[in-house]
Amino acid sequence: MSDALPPGRMIGILGGGQLGRMLSVAAARLGYRCHIYDPAANPPAGDVSAAVTTAPWVDAAALTAFAETVDVITYEFENIPTTTLDILERHAPVRPGRRALAVSQDRLSEKQFLRDLGLATAPFAPVTDADDLERALAQTGTPAILKTRRLGYDGKGQVWLNSPADAGAALAEMRGAEAILEGVVAFSHEVSVIAARGLTGEVAAYDPGENLHKSGILRRTQVPARLTRAQRADAVLLAGKILNTLNYVGVLGVELFVTERDLVVNEIAPRVHNSGHWTQNGCAVDQFEQHIRAVAGLPLGDGSRHSDVVMENLIGDDMDRLPDLMTTTGAALHLYGKPDIRPGRKMGHVNHVSAPRG
Ligand code: AMP
Repeated sequence: MSDALPPGRMIGILGGGQLGRMLSVAAARLGYRCHIYDPAANPPAGDVSAAVTTAPWVDAAALTAFAETVDVITYEFENIPTTTLDILERHAPVRPGRRALAVSQDRLSEKQFLRDLGLATAPFAPVTDADDLERALAQTGTPAILKTRRLGYDGKGQVWLNSPADAGAALAEMRGAEAILEGVVAFSHEVSVIAARGLTGEVAAYDPGENLHKSGILRRTQVPARLTRAQRADAVLLAGKILNTLNYVGVLGVELFVTERDLVVNEIAPRVHNSGHWTQNGCAVDQFEQHIRAVAGLPLGDGSRHSDVVMENLIGDDMDRLPDLMTTTGAALHLYGKPDIRPGRKMGHVNHVSAPRG
């Protein structure tokens, strides 16, 4: 506990969306205060935090002033510019560290990192032009997915190719951005593991959740996931391997495709993860508190699952269901305080909790 941050100290969070908001609430429960840094005004996390800085990622003076007020810095999203980190790291430790960000910011380095660890991935190849794409298609076959290497999320920046004839149109959609072609994995379902590593190297993992996506956006996570005992153990072990290799501090999300032969790693997220929201009502210590504990140098908490949970994202018009959800037995609501409802916008989530089936 010697490196542990005492209560009352300030934690800096880069990004003030719903993840930052829930991190800030968890930090407050442990007696910490949070300072949010976000280029957008009035971020959802601002409502529940001690301080907010509204400034661009390239504003050296604002970054320095922010970093001087905090004891440790963490983040809710992975696309933080390297130049921003250069400035912040002069004043306070940034956790999780640079390597995790570098690996996860670029789909190609992420896939290479996972393959080098001996983990199964979709077949992949880098693509910058039509010749590359032709070669890559010969490698992966079709169907395949062309994805931008950087800044893609929730299925954005992705094009499916059903046959090589789709190559020209798919490449045009990349608008000159560096891309990666992935063979489509024939999976039966998708799961994810949320795992944490503390400052002293201890590792803890939550029970894997089963995820349902629609149009690239997570709609639902349920625990327990359909996995054999061996698959469950494999999922947790591979997450531990990733955490230890990256010398990671904090919570990490690992998305997996379940196939007959393997658990295939789709991607890793160096942060708390939407598919881990069920932990808020399924465990004594949820992913947000676990992350705060890790970056603050505290021991990790008890993340064992005490209930079955179905987490449903509330997206856009799903908010019309609020009156019903308010009175549904076993439903725990988590709203993000976003004033405008827009199609595709994550407005909140609901955890449907029930007694464990055994
Ligand atoms: P991503 O943004 O890479 O997480 O992709 C969003 C969703 O698209 C995933 O959760 C999958 O449902 C699907 N997807 C992405 N890549 C692949 C792949 N190589 N094979 C099959 N489905 C994929």
